[in-house]
Amino acid sequence: MYCMKKQDQTTFDIVVIGGGPAGLAFAKAVSGQGLSIAIVEPAPRAVLEKPSYDGREIALTHFSKKTMSELGFFDHITADQVSMIKKAHVVNGDSPYALKFDHREAGEETLGYMVSNQNIRRSSFAAVQGADDITLLDERRVDDLTSDASGARVTLDDGQVLSARLVVGADGRFSQSRRKMGIACDMLEWGRTCLVGVMEHDGAHDDTAYECFHYDRTLAVLPLNNGLVSVVITLPSEEAQDVLDMDPAAFAADIEARFEGRVGAMRLTQKLHAYPLVCNYAKSFYAPRFALLGDAAVGMHPVTAHGYNLGLRGAHTLAQEVIQMARTGGDIGSSLPLRHYNRAHNIICKPIYLGTNTVVKLYTDQRKPAKIARKTLLHLGNVLKPARDMITRQLTESHVA
Ligand SMILES: Cc1cc2nc3c(=O)[nH]c(=O)nc-3n(C[C@H](O)[C@H](O)[C@H](O)COP(=O)(O)OP(=O)(O)OC[C@H]3O[C@@H](n4cnc5c(N)ncnc54)[C@H](O)[C@@H]3O)c2cc1C
Repeated sequence: MYCMKKQDQTTFDIVVIGGGPAGLAFAKAVSGQGLSIAIVEPAPRAVLEKPSYDGREIALTHFSKKTMSELGFFDHITADQVSMIKKAHVVNGDSPYALKFDHREAGEETLGYMVSNQNIRRSSFAAVQGADDITLLDERRVDDLTSDASGARVTLDDGQVLSARLVVGADGRFSQSRRKMGIACDMLEWGRTCLVGVMEHDGAHDDTAYECFHYDRTLAVLPLNNGLVSVVITLPSEEAQDVLDMDPAAFAADIEARFEGRVGAMRLTQKLHAYPLVCNYAKSFYAPRFALLGDAAVGMHPVTAHGYNLGLRGAHTLAQEVIQMARTGGDIGSSLPLRHYNRAHNIICKPIYLGTNTVVKLYTDQRKPAKIARKTLLHLGNVLKPARDMITRQLTESHVA
């Protein structure tokens, strides 16, 4: 059964702008509550059903794994498509010293899970496909968006006008809906680019994730199944094209050397994908009859692997507020549930956003005081148990699962 039966319907309880991971998670979370939901997405349905591989291997917390299971996403993901991160090592410069985390210390089977963004997108869409209260308006964009106390109106690029009690903007970092609703946003252009790719290796990775802060570049090597690792290189944007143009064998030799042969000989299995790094934080996550979600609200630097995890957390929080309001017969687009969401989601996101950006600045600063500070921090991290416990809790989110 497909969810696109009512293409001519123009009045909905909720219109979700953007059928990416955050928008789909929210739509699924509020489905089955007697609400009518529309998703507006520029990509055609065939692309949503079979998204192409984009190089991103997403590290998931325990909370995300649990939420995705409850939403039915894991019904469409095989065990082989999930790998585990049992240990994490943070390495600074050329030093052999590492800040280490271990799943046994956290009392968990694993610190986190890895699933490709392709499988997250595919499984999220598969989960909403069967819902007859969700209407997909694909191959369409939002041209205009207005709201007042009586309701919200969404004008699509084919001239169709949708009315809704609540509109959710989940249209990514450069969100047009955020702009149209007049919500200011801090944008941080790092002048750096993230290159991601999958590599085969001859040695064992021991389910260990490595974050290596070298002086000019950072290199993350994340464990996947079947003798593969995900490689994430962050470097100044002006150097990215040279790396993309490298002969695959020369690239593999370079990574192997930078990674000091920890997983033996390495080979690139497919082309690298490039993501220029821009982070963003919206000044408010709501406006009248409107809520911001996912990267449209908070676009994270990938180094701490929080973007999708926070998007899912936001989808969960907003859905809870909306469902509670609907059950008591209240107005789901009124300011009360939106203010609660705004407050709760800011409390979660702000420290993580600011903390991540501080770490990125410290670990890409090549001046001597910064080098000494990060060396000291790694040592302190290893010896101060409360600090280790706090970082582990944030890595795993097992306390909220
Ligand atoms: C290299 C890299 C590694 C990452 N690793 C991790 C990780 O390990 N862990 C983690 O948690 N996160 C990670 N992330 C972050 C994660 O990928 C994102 O946070 C997540 O994909 C954001 O989902 P979203 O739905 O908010 O936005 P998007 O994925 O950007 O989706 C937005 C959707 O809106 C649609 N859209 C755009 N404009 C319009 C419009 N005008 N009208 C309607 N629809 C529109 C788009 O077509 C798209 O489908 C990583 C990101 C990168 C770049």
